[in-house]
Amino acid sequence: MDLLLCLGALAVVFLLWIKCKGVEYVIVHQRWIFVCLFLLPLSVLYDVYYYVRAWLIFKLCSAPKLHDQRVRDIQRQVREWRNNGGKTYMCTGRPGWLTVSLRVGKYKKTHKNIMINLMDILEVDTSRQVVRVEPLANMGQVTALLNSIGWTLPVLPELDDLTVGGLVMGTGIESSSHIYGLFQHICVAFELVLADGSLVRCSEEENSDLFHAVPWSCGTLGFLVAAEIKIVPAKPWVKLHYEPVRGLENICSHFHEASKNKQNTFVEGIQYTLDTAVIMTGTMTDYAEPDKINRIGLHFKPWFFKHVESYLKRDVGGTEYIPLRHYYHRHTRSIFWELQVIFHFKNIYTFLLLLDLLILFLRIF
Ligand SMILES: Cc1cc2nc3c(=O)[nH]c(=O)nc-3n(C[C@H](O)[C@H](O)[C@H](O)COP(=O)(O)OP(=O)(O)OC[C@H]3O[C@@H](n4cnc5c(N)ncnc54)[C@H](O)[C@@H]3O)c2cc1C
Repeated sequence: MDLLLCLGALAVVFLLWIKCKGVEYVIVHQRWIFVCLFLLPLSVLYDVYYYVRAWLIFKLCSAPKLHDQRVRDIQRQVREWRNNGGKTYMCTGRPGWLTVSLRVGKYKKTHKNIMINLMDILEVDTSRQVVRVEPLANMGQVTALLNSIGWTLPVLPELDDLTVGGLVMGTGIESSSHIYGLFQHICVAFELVLADGSLVRCSEEENSDLFHAVPWSCGTLGFLVAAEIKIVPAKPWVKLHYEPVRGLENICSHFHEASKNKQNTFVEGIQYTLDTAVIMTGTMTDYAEPDKINRIGLHFKPWFFKHVESYLKRDVGGTEYIPLRHYYHRHTRSIFWELQVIFHFKNIYTFLLLLDLLILFLRIF
């Protein structure tokens, strides 16, 4: 009862404060309130729904059966647009707020929106070493499935929400790109619905001109409905070495040397000022030294770029073993360093404490 009274009083003070400052001021200058109270809980619910759905669909093998039917529906929408005279341009019907990009395209309001409801992993073919996926399958979903069965994509862009469609039609890069190239370079075939409503498959051998024109075309050649992507065996840990480096020339040459060495599966550098950086090199491994394990993805761990910065502040190098999936999505929690703009607390632990209190509050009710 006391707790309820306290919370009630807090809520009243909070509402009075909003009334004094004005809703607009609070939303613009204190974005963390909106994010913590509404956006985070809603995102958690959405993610739970999304992952349970993806898991069930894969287990029930229903995605491949429904795929053809869904593609036919996209073809129907395109033909309908043609039959109506094709008066406006077409675009994907995915709303701007769902994409990773911060830009919300105004063209979505004026163009004919083609609804592409294709968000599943269709098939993992370990003999051909290829996974066939729909365009809205995202990186979080792909690692959750592939890593659990001992496979991975050679190039795995970090943020959970990046989609296969966006990475093919836009572009994708990762800390293994010095070996495997861009995301498009690990793709072996694309399936597209063209502006006449036809469905085509293209690869190095089949419609190869289209195959090479698709990456970076931003949807101008057709709607992507499936992609076949190379997979490689995965190991459970990443052995990551952190090296603080000072001096711009030194940073560039260190990074260049690290990228030239193909023994390094992962190479990444984070630069904190013009003259200071930490260069990281990593390899996948089956074994982890227990006293050097760091599960960086756990919610109470510091944001990755802050953790990396601690090596720079102490001016020492170091080696850690990070679970593969934690490594891949190391920048997801903090959206690289962007979240600090919203959560401008003095340190991340204040934010984590607030988050823990919120979770506790949600559990009580
Ligand atoms: C904060 C932030 C972090 C990022 N981090 C990384 C990163 O770590 N690595 C990296 O490689 N990139 C990164 N990016 C860039 C990212 O690769 C692009 O934004 C990319 O396009 C993915 O976004 P999306 O999946 O939301 O695709 P969208 O923005 O939805 O799509 C991108 C383009 O592809 C087109 N498209 C999408 N699906 C289809 C389809 N089915 N048929 C036809 N056209 C389609 C869209 O029309 C659009 O033109 C980052 C971007 C931001 C804003």
